[in-house]
Amino acid sequence: MTNPSRRGLLIILSSPSGAGKSTMARALRAWDPTINFSVSATTRAPRPGEEDGTDYRFVGEEHFRQAVAEGEMLEHAHVFGNFYGSPKAPVQAAIDQGQDILFDIDWQGAQQIRNSDLNTHTLSIFLLPPSITELKRRLESRGQDDAETIAKRMGKSWDEISHWDGYDFVLVNDDLDQTEARLKSIITAARLRLSQQPAIKDHVRRLQSEFEDLKCPSTPSPMPAPRSLPRRGSPLTPMSSAR
Ligand code: ADP
Ligand code: 5GP
Repeated sequence: MTNPSRRGLLIILSSPSGAGKSTMARALRAWDPTINFSVSATTRAPRPGEEDGTDYRFVGEEHFRQAVAEGEMLEHAHVFGNFYGSPKAPVQAAIDQGQDILFDIDWQGAQQIRNSDLNTHTLSIFLLPPSITELKRRLESRGQDDAETIAKRMGKSWDEISHWDGYDFVLVNDDLDQTEARLKSIITAARLRLSQQPAIKDHVRRLQSEFEDLKCPSTPSPMPAPRSLPRRGSPLTPMSSAR
C-alpha cells in the first residue's frame, strides 16, 4: 500500500551480535507489517533455517564485488570475514511510497547511510546489552553458532560497541518488553519529523487560504517562514535520490 502523504524512514538497528537486533526487528514487523526489511546480500553461508531472499541474498564473492562496482549497494562492509551489503533499489522505492525500511546492519553500514543523501530520512538506533556476561549468554542460548563462531563474535563485540555514540538513540536491551515499547515510541515520533511529512506544506497552504477567506485581521506572508531551522533538512526541499 502506498502512502505518499509521508516519506518512509530508513530505520537502522545496530548492536554487537547477540544484543537483540533480530528479535526487535521481528517485534517491530509484527507491530506494523508495513515496515519492510532490507534484505542484505552476503557472501557468508546460510545458517540452518535461513532462506535465500528472506533472511539474506546469499551470493558468491565475485557477484558481490560486481554489485558493488556497479553501484548497486547503498552501503557495504566486511564483517566477521564476509561481505555484507544493502541493495539500493528497494530503498528509494519504499521511502517514496511512504513505507519504512528496517536495516539490521553494523556500524560501518550505518555510517555510510548517515553520510549519504538519505541521511534526512534516517533514524539510527544502537542496542547495548545489559552486560558482557549476558551478551555471551544470549549468543550461546541462541544455539545458532558453534563455540568458535561465538568466540569470534564476542571478540568483535567491543569494536561494535565502541561506535555507540554515532547513533540518534541508544537503548540498553535489558527487558524485552521495555525495549520494544521504546522502539515503537521512537519510530512513532520520527515518522512525525518535518522531513517525513511532505503533505504538511499543502496543509499549511490550505490554512493560509482559509485564513485569507475568513478575512482574519493580519494577513500572513505568502508562506510562513519556519521559526527555527529544522534539525534535519528542510521540509520544502525536494528529496534527493539515492546514489
Ligand atoms: P542479534 O540479532 O543482535 O544478533 P538476537 O535478536 O538474535 O541478536 O538475540 C540473541 C538472543 O538473545 C536470542 O536468543 C534472543 O531471543 C535473546 N534476546 C534478545 N533480546 C533479549 C532480552 N531483552 N532479554 C533476554 N533475551 C534476549
Ligand atoms: P550475521 O552474520 O550474524 O547475520 O550478521 C553479522 C553482522 O553483519 C551483524 O552485525 C549484522 O548487523 C551485520 N550486517 C548484516 N547485513 C549487513 C549489511 O547489509 N551491511 C552491513 N554493513 N552490515 C550487515
